[in-house]
Amino acid sequence: MASPTRETPAKSRPRQKRGEGQWALGYREPLNPNERSKKDDNPLNARARIENIYARGGFDSIDPGDLRGRFRWFGLYTQRKEGIDGGRTATLEPEELDARYFMMRVRLDGGMLTTQQLAVLAEISQTHARGTADITDRQNIQYHWIRIEDVPTIWQKLENAGMTTMEACGDSPRVILGSPVAGIAADEIIDGTPAIEEIKRRYIGDPQYANLPRKFKTAVSGQADVAHEIHDVAFVGVNHPEHGPGFDVWVGGGLSTNPMIGQRLGAWVPRDEVPDVWEGVISVFRDYGYRRLRSRARIKFLVKDWGAAKFREVLEEKYLKRPLLDGPAPEVPPAPIDHVGVHRQVDGKFYVGAAPVAGRVNGETLLAVAKAAERAGSARVRLTPQQKLVVLDVPESEVPGLETELAELGLHTKPSPWRRSVMACTGLEFCKLAIVETKARALALVTDLEKRLADVQGDLENPVSVHLNGCPNSCARIQTADIGLKGQIVTDADGRQVEGFQVHLGGGLGLDAGFGRKLRGHKVVADELVDYVERVVRAYLDGREPGERFAQW
Ligand code: SF4
Repeated sequence: MASPTRETPAKSRPRQKRGEGQWALGYREPLNPNERSKKDDNPLNARARIENIYARGGFDSIDPGDLRGRFRWFGLYTQRKEGIDGGRTATLEPEELDARYFMMRVRLDGGMLTTQQLAVLAEISQTHARGTADITDRQNIQYHWIRIEDVPTIWQKLENAGMTTMEACGDSPRVILGSPVAGIAADEIIDGTPAIEEIKRRYIGDPQYANLPRKFKTAVSGQADVAHEIHDVAFVGVNHPEHGPGFDVWVGGGLSTNPMIGQRLGAWVPRDEVPDVWEGVISVFRDYGYRRLRSRARIKFLVKDWGAAKFREVLEEKYLKRPLLDGPAPEVPPAPIDHVGVHRQVDGKFYVGAAPVAGRVNGETLLAVAKAAERAGSARVRLTPQQKLVVLDVPESEVPGLETELAELGLHTKPSPWRRSVMACTGLEFCKLAIVETKARALALVTDLEKRLADVQGDLENPVSVHLNGCPNSCARIQTADIGLKGQIVTDADGRQVEGFQVHLGGGLGLDAGFGRKLRGHKVVADELVDYVERVVRAYLDGREPGERFAQW
């Protein structure tokens, strides 16, 4: 034992850097309970237990490790118990917040649906989900009130129609966003659909990619309509001066508490190589991603530390075993693309985009949309990353009739700027993490703003986007909205603790790519939200220079 006098004083001893839990550096032992749970049993094995044990034994038969962890790999979360206010969210144990029902997410890669599939989704909603069926901003359908006893039957119905909940949530490769108008849009550079389908066919449900450090979000689109800047990996259509249409690769974007814009690798990839490159990127993440802390586990932290050049080097040398071709950056669209309205397709038919409020629809509406689309000669519907839906392939003569039918369902093809630009996450109604209510509040906000701001509606060349989150997570992408609203408990004028929002102003994607500023003290009580938004919008319209967008103002 060394003499105390000869020891280096603790103050001047170089501090040993703790590892980040990267598998590639030898950290194979789990460093937190989530990692332990995934190592104990591959989450994909939970399906057999749902089918063979839990669906028969009911809610009380479910192993807690499956209930609060592995079920997510099949799109299942317990939903929030009714009647617990948001102020108590952080004070209760998870089981105290549990209803004995589930939220179920159906992954719809690229938002692609046939009208027959839409009818199946509608039937499941009406039979098993009390009519619920929200369109999420990741092109999924989300049900509520699902009983564990019904899950195998629902899976069977989905799978018979070519749909799945596999890896809809969890530390896995989740739904792949794609352009809702892939293959038919006049301004698309390349159709990303074959790449999306091939990634899904090869890798979704593969145990090799089912234990990632954290969730992994992908976007593939021939045009900039899928929020590619905030994905773990994104492939965006670009014309290479020598090789023609292909994809520009972005990595390391993401929102939540440490939002980051993705970085370009500067590489051009032809469409048939997209699945290989995707596999390389997800493998880098699996092997080098930080598994010690959940809060640092997304790929964005690795990309931030390494930088795009080192990431590309590791990807090429260790995983692809070949260099990628350099390529140009994609063009930035002059305004956000949401596909609402009536647009001519390359084949002369039309696509018709319609806006519900903040993605809130139901089984009855979805069935009616499927029938209306078929009556108009269409067999294809798409969900969008803006919580909208689009009917494809409509002959010109059928467009007016379809627009009328959709409007009768509350799905407007010429919506007000507010109906068009308000988005909201699930919120307090069903989400166990929520602090405030969002969906009903979004509806009230749209209705009130349509009345109060009717006089200036025509002055808004680009709608001012308003996104509502029920908690500090960012399921509704608040940092990329003109007015982003992060749910929290705030103090009202009488000193009471009430539901409210921290405001973020001036975020955007595309031309305005950047995160909204969190203004110190800019908090709004939920009951005064419409007053606040009205004030901000009027101040913008009064104070802007000609042509100045909200994010520039
Ligand atoms: Fe739930 Fe928060 Fe996500 Fe909203 S942002 S759905 S409240 S986790």
